[in-house]
Amino acid sequence: MKAIIIGAGMGGLTAGIALKRIGYDVDIYERVTEVKPVGAALSLWPNGVKCLNYLGLHEQARTLAGQMDTMAYVDGLDGSVMTQFSLEPLYKEVGQRAWPVARADLQLMLMDAFGLDRIHLGRELASVSETDGVVTATFTDGATVTGDLLIGADGAHSGVRSYVWGHKAERRYTGYVNWNGLIEIDESIAPATQWTTFVGEGKRVSVMPVAEGRFYFFFDVPLPQGLPNDRATYQNTLRENFRGWAAPVQKLIDSIDPARTNRVEILDIDPNPVWVKGRVAILGDSAHNTAPDIGQGGCMAMEDSVVLAIALQTNTYGIEDALIRYQDKRAPRAGELVLRARKRCDVTHAKDPEATAAWYADLRKEDGTHIMKGILANIEGNPLG
Ligand code: FAD
Repeated sequence: MKAIIIGAGMGGLTAGIALKRIGYDVDIYERVTEVKPVGAALSLWPNGVKCLNYLGLHEQARTLAGQMDTMAYVDGLDGSVMTQFSLEPLYKEVGQRAWPVARADLQLMLMDAFGLDRIHLGRELASVSETDGVVTATFTDGATVTGDLLIGADGAHSGVRSYVWGHKAERRYTGYVNWNGLIEIDESIAPATQWTTFVGEGKRVSVMPVAEGRFYFFFDVPLPQGLPNDRATYQNTLRENFRGWAAPVQKLIDSIDPARTNRVEILDIDPNPVWVKGRVAILGDSAHNTAPDIGQGGCMAMEDSVVLAIALQTNTYGIEDALIRYQDKRAPRAGELVLRARKRCDVTHAKDPEATAAWYADLRKEDGTHIMKGILANIEGNPLG
């Protein structure tokens, strides 16, 4: 069986690895000539890590992970610790630690694991068609390839999604801008093995350890959509938005390198249960573009890949039937997490200031139990237990 995958992000690559493992002949086509992930790092929660373990990548991925032992919320304005607790009970409950990783490291590892010779860079999909069980991908240079199925892992602006849905998706601005990057670990900002989040005024500043002594940092600020994106102003904009915040936050702003900092407006898409048309399916952000507020978008993409391979491997009624089974298993879970992330996003970013003030008050009473229960709820229901 020959599979065509569009997009060499974490969704396309894990799908490629999963399909190769069940004997498919797989080629991945990627628009850019050099894959540079948007965003500096991400947290792989235990459900995402379990997918990598399942794909035989445990050892390679482990070396990329930061040591994240504890979690804390800090009052961003006065610097007082609101809650601080060990994540060990969560890890023990689910049988796997969370692994925060730099995106570039994960990307390289996945590309190596899939095999560079079958990743075709600089190939931008223009259209998809299907006739008599043969799927054809046409690229912008006019070239075509055919296969038994096609997986659209072409991200938030997916063209394959438009083919499957029959229309272009409406992306919805969630109301905030995120700046993110990597710095060397600095314990005057936060403890080296802790995920520390400073909160206040509906804004958020976070540092999380990744491998090689680095902190992944991000800043969230509720702002109108469409403001100019000028690297030269990043630090001053952050200084203005975090004026009066505690010393570690000022130190972090001073430490960032604007040339290597990303600025992203955060959008999502209403869940849609249609992921398949004939022998064409969508996966990852193409199928479920979510706000990153529960850190599950990439983990969901990897879950999609595992379920897709299991559906194709275990079904005997043909590819179309297997793809529908994949869709029906994945769409409800992914849709629920998109809505959960949206809800979390609204509380974090003071859509209703009273709800956010109540959350800040709750954080001061928190011993970790409720927060870990929330994280656990996101992990439960994953395909690997
Ligand atoms: P992408 O990574 O977008 O890959 C799509 C690929 O398709 C790209 O390489 C693109 O060039 C290619 N492509 C597009 N169009 C075409 C075309 N026409 N032809 C050929 N190729 C094409 N997730 C987590 O699990 N944990 C986190 O902590 C986390 N944090 C996040 C923080 C932020 C600020 C953001 C924005 C997201 C975060 N996410 C997180 C979500 C995660 O980044 C995404 O869910 C994940 O990257 C999706 O992977 P993907 O492969 O589906 O899409």
